[in-house]
Amino acid sequence: MKERKKRLTVALAGNPNCGKTTLFNALTGATAHVGNWPGVTVDKREGVCKKGREPFSVVDLPGIYSLSPYTPEEVIARNYILDEKPDCIINIVDSTNLERNLYLTTQIMETDVPVVVALNMCDELEKTGDKIDVKLLGERLDLPVVGISAVTGKGIKELVDKTLSAATRKRRGISVLSDTVLSEAVADIAVKLDEEGVPSPLFHAIKIAEGDSLECENHKKAAAYAAKLTSKITDETFGNDWEALFANARYDYITANYSPALTVSGRNGKRKLSEKIDRVLTNKWAGIPIFIAILFAIFHLTFSENFLFLAGALGKNGDWVSFEGTYFEGLFGSSGGIASPGVILANLLAGITDAISGGVSNGLSSAGTAEWAQGFVVDGVLGGLFSVMSFLPQILVLFMFFSLLEDSGYMARVAFILDRIFRRLGLSGRAFMPMIMGFGCSVPAMVNTRTLADEKERAATVRVIPFFSCGAKLPILVACAGALVSVSGIAGGFADMITMLMYLLGIVTAFVAVVIMRKTTMRGELTPFIMELPNYRRPGVKNTLLHLWDKAKHFVKKAFTVILVSTILIWFFSHFTWNWNYVPDERMNESILASVGMLVQPIFTPLGFGSQLGVNGWVFAVAAVTGLIAKENVIATFGTLAACVVATFNPDLMGEEGIEAVEALITATGISGAGVISYIAFNMLTVPCFAAVATAKAELGKKSFRMTLLFWVATSYIVASMIYTIGVAWWSAFIWAAVWAIAITVIAIINKKCGSSRRRIAAA
Ligand code: GDP
Ligand code: MG
Repeated sequence: MKERKKRLTVALAGNPNCGKTTLFNALTGATAHVGNWPGVTVDKREGVCKKGREPFSVVDLPGIYSLSPYTPEEVIARNYILDEKPDCIINIVDSTNLERNLYLTTQIMETDVPVVVALNMCDELEKTGDKIDVKLLGERLDLPVVGISAVTGKGIKELVDKTLSAATRKRRGISVLSDTVLSEAVADIAVKLDEEGVPSPLFHAIKIAEGDSLECENHKKAAAYAAKLTSKITDETFGNDWEALFANARYDYITANYSPALTVSGRNGKRKLSEKIDRVLTNKWAGIPIFIAILFAIFHLTFSENFLFLAGALGKNGDWVSFEGTYFEGLFGSSGGIASPGVILANLLAGITDAISGGVSNGLSSAGTAEWAQGFVVDGVLGGLFSVMSFLPQILVLFMFFSLLEDSGYMARVAFILDRIFRRLGLSGRAFMPMIMGFGCSVPAMVNTRTLADEKERAATVRVIPFFSCGAKLPILVACAGALVSVSGIAGGFADMITMLMYLLGIVTAFVAVVIMRKTTMRGELTPFIMELPNYRRPGVKNTLLHLWDKAKHFVKKAFTVILVSTILIWFFSHFTWNWNYVPDERMNESILASVGMLVQPIFTPLGFGSQLGVNGWVFAVAAVTGLIAKENVIATFGTLAACVVATFNPDLMGEEGIEAVEALITATGISGAGVISYIAFNMLTVPCFAAVATAKAELGKKSFRMTLLFWVATSYIVASMIYTIGVAWWSAFIWAAVWAIAITVIAIINKKCGSSRRRIAAA
């Protein structure tokens, strides 16, 4: 085996948002997350490309503007290029933004690693009418250049061929800085480094001459030598700020030598339009209201039972059309309005799952199966599973909209608007990206916080990420809100409003928590956040479908593994006593699960879903606890136990799933509206699922992690009890206001004292 040739490794390097991950996916057939947004990839990712004459490894690096280590991404990318010595670098250049992208190219050229330049987004460039003379650019750069489109696949074959042949050839670093005052000094330093056996001596020599602290630390001898050389020179314009001088020289060189390869034509018209759009969307006053309006539209399209606000006009009391009694009642909902596309899809699926459980149930009873076995299959397995699955359509619809917002480039505008507000809260705009990712899943979102340079800002962000309610929590929000609306008789169509308000509650809680942390235990410096706005793009169908496919696959896989096992266990523990005797549905309160549930139930009394719910109330406590494994479990548990609870007073109501299961439980326990809202809030804000907890533990220090667990428990408890107490007795709002006022005053006083003692130390 030994003699097998080592596989070549190719690294993808380029500016943020130039299409590295898209190319990575195109080369390797992977489905890594692509977003029209700088900073999506924070860690390197590996795959294998089999498109050429031999397979090679491909590494997707985070986006970088330069090889100077300013940001964590730049450190990762630079270390990879220098230390791991890939056989070739594909330098991806956004051809619609040639000059700025070439800045990085002028630095990559200085290493000894073979380079191929991939001019990406050729399709977009063509549309603008501009042209790049690929041959001329290649001659000037003295590197192979290929025009490609990572999205359409154009030029990728040629890129692969050129990469493979470049990878096998040796290359020496070249510099564009030949006409600067420092060039001779740099050449001298490079010779010294070469003698020391340092690879890519030219690159290191330039970085040392620039005064890069990391490089000077690593090459002390050469640095001392460089200092001696440079101390004799002063530049007219730059004094001895060599870094600025080099940057300037690079740009001058790019303008003089590479820009001629670009012929600009009619792009101005398109530019102007996108500038006009941006003036509205990122407007200081209009920006946020527009964002909220867009959010509402999305939630309405996904969750509303009263999509066209026609409830009342149609349906039960409607005068002109009624769906009652027709097939459409099941599809459009019985509220009388017309349901949103998301709800229609959900109803379609519910029709199928209902038919399946009905069929199975009938089949089992006519076959004379034992009662417990019927209960196990219909409630334990199907009830839990279908409860969770019933939310898949709406999850997919919601994520389709999020994906469109992200791909079009709009989300980057939102980050831009929020940056101003974020600064006031003590966060940089960079923290926005992981937070938005949190709406999908907390796990990658927590990993993404690595882009935050300040450790304390990072810890604070990791803590609040679960408050950006993830896809797995969505069933809790939708089912509880939907059930509350239909039980309490609020006119149909408000469920989407409640769902959206719960999302907003999570966001607001996150921001309040961040402010408090940044003013108390988590103080720290903010690094400047510079983000360029990406071009607006028509979202690609393929990309959107990929996102959704990923989401669906993950969801279904989880449903049939973790959730299924959990529901089966729950059914068993709720149907057996401590002596392992089977108890039927009506006597479920004698089961193991019930006795444990009743034990913890009082803890939740101040939150509105504890002892006040009576004998069956423990179901809420148990569901919240099972949610710690996976948040879908909350609804799955309801689906499994609802039929049993209902059976105690109405055995006809068997086999309830999803929203209906929660409705049944609300009726059976008599939980108050405030209690239901508090329950949603508690589940949303408390300790997240196992996977997220493990990620937080890996990303944070041990001590910080323990505090984080405490933080999640405390926040959820406080917020949920606030909602409940104010909801059932409005005057308690005054008590809460007083408590908060005292807390804020105490923080302010402590801060003032600490501040003045710090000033005294500074003065001494
Ligand atoms: P990364 O940050 O460099 O990894 O960039 P991504 O791969 O995430 O892509 C950024 C955006 O550019 C996404 O919206 C892609 O769909 C889009 N994109 C990437 N390559 C091309 C291309 O060749 N043509 C066009 N029109 N869009 C592209
Ligand atoms: Mg990427």
